[in-house]
Amino acid sequence: MLSMKNISKVYQSELVETHALREFNLQVSEGEFVVVTGPSGSGKTTFLNVAGLLEGFSQGEYLLDGVDVSSVSDNESARIRNEKIGFIFQGFNLIPDLNLAENIEVPLRYRGFDSKERKRRVEQALEQVGLASRLKHLPPQLSGGQQQRVAIARALAGEPRFLLADEPTGNLDSLMARQVMELLENINQAGTTIIMVTHDPELARRAQRNVQIVDGQVCDFTSYQKSRSTTS
Ligand code: ADP
Ligand code: ADP
Repeated sequence: MLSMKNISKVYQSELVETHALREFNLQVSEGEFVVVTGPSGSGKTTFLNVAGLLEGFSQGEYLLDGVDVSSVSDNESARIRNEKIGFIFQGFNLIPDLNLAENIEVPLRYRGFDSKERKRRVEQALEQVGLASRLKHLPPQLSGGQQQRVAIARALAGEPRFLLADEPTGNLDSLMARQVMELLENINQAGTTIIMVTHDPELARRAQRNVQIVDGQVCDFTSYQKSRSTTS
């Protein structure tokens, strides 16, 4: 479970202070699929970066699975991030001259898994996104939707509890966007908690829970249905 209480995040440059998050409160339970919407510049990316331990914050309390992450060291924070969190971005961020299997392996090598474990995770992850037969292809040989599925496989190979997605369908046409959304829904149903930022109203409408961020604050909850038991 993820719990943010009164989080503030201020970006400071020479003359301006930007309050990207102000008294930000949000609780996400195990197994939820939360879709985050809101105007450009409202703090959505900042929220995801703070939630994913990519950035710190100025004030407030953030508990991730009961651990107060504001009080842990940078090393511990990186360890928690690697172990618990997977990221997906609008731009896929694949390395063009590594094949699909090698792309998925990069973070697994970094984490020190042996070759047998890396192979198991790569094959399982590509299987999950329906690209098992293409492990030797290079990213530029795939469509945008397929590339995003590889990026999702790379995140899944870390076996994360939380998947954080920043506009994962932003570069895709509506058919591919829907396919990526269906894949994320399947992943969620298999147990991974997902938080996704999107501008796509169709995707927001089909969300189990829609959180709106306006001016650095959570301002609204709509169409929230407890469609499954939420524990922890
Ligand atoms: P969104 O994702 O909703 O478009 P962001 O979280 O990217 O919003 O940005 C929220 C606010 O914080 C904006 O005013 C943005 O300009 C500012 N901001 C984001 N990142 C930085 C940064 N690294 N330095 C200074 N200001 C930033
Ligand atoms: P998005 O709208 O998809 O959230 P942006 O284009 O706002 O993305 O921001 C892209 C990157 O630039 C982010 O990493 C954000 O932190 C950074 N950024 C945004 N606004 C500023 C700013 N005013 N000063 C410095 N960095 C910024």
